[in-house]
Amino acid sequence: EIPPGRPLRVDDLRMEFGGLTAVDGAGFAIEEGSLTGLIGPNGAGKSTTFDCITGVHRPTGGSVKLHNEEITGLQPYEIAARGLVRTFQITRELQEMTVLENMLLAPRGQQGESLWRAVLPGVRRSVQAQERELRERAWETLEFFEIDHLAEEYAGNLSGGQRKLLEMARALLTDPEVVLLDEPLAGVNPTLERKLLERIDELREQGYTFLLVEHDMDVIMENCERVIVMHQGRVLADDAPAAIRENEQVIDAYLGA
Ligand code: ADP
Ligand code: MG
Repeated sequence: EIPPGRPLRVDDLRMEFGGLTAVDGAGFAIEEGSLTGLIGPNGAGKSTTFDCITGVHRPTGGSVKLHNEEITGLQPYEIAARGLVRTFQITRELQEMTVLENMLLAPRGQQGESLWRAVLPGVRRSVQAQERELRERAWETLEFFEIDHLAEEYAGNLSGGQRKLLEMARALLTDPEVVLLDEPLAGVNPTLERKLLERIDELREQGYTFLLVEHDMDVIMENCERVIVMHQGRVLADDAPAAIRENEQVIDAYLGA
């Protein structure tokens, strides 16, 4: 039913908070290896949509499918283990750990399995091998984002932009296929912003799929091949950037906001 190459599909998604409808029947499908923009005025329901997709909230209606498999209502760690992640905020407690420690703590898909392996003496070596591999990958990922020189720095001492790079590095360490980014460029200086967008572009060429919420319209229009516009909990438009720019309903939605 889902065209191959569309790893993420959302149908008729609804999220109600008491009497407030934050997401009101939103639907879209994301192309594999794409960078798709998700925009809309404040309060349009973008973050709540991300929360429903990644299991932070159980939606009150509709479905979320990853490679045709229902993931609606699963726990965030279960969804991450299946290859769909969002960036992880560096919370207060994580600020008191180093960058490298943050990387080694990144949620891992095989955690349950390796726990079982740890109690079986015959395969203990493979646990050590896994740990070694995780460390290597953590370093490689820090190098990729050019923050390896900060490995021993406390996360709390990073600049806003460096922290965004670390959040993205942590997300990638879970070995995802689909990455949801909610305003990853907020508070990021132009140099780091360019670096982050270049990294996204490289990863996209490797087959990673990105869905990006970003309020800077120029960034969206210049970097995304497709743009989904949300307004009042619904998808108002889903089109190429050039068509979105000229869409009267979209212009009205922003002017009316
Ligand atoms: P966006 O990210 O597009 O700015 P949100 O998804 O954050 O929009 O919010 C959509 C609507 O849902 C807003 O009216 C917001 O106040 C409301 N909302 C979001 N989260 C909650 C919550 N946990 N409880 C109650 N209302 C919420
Ligand atoms: Mg938001």
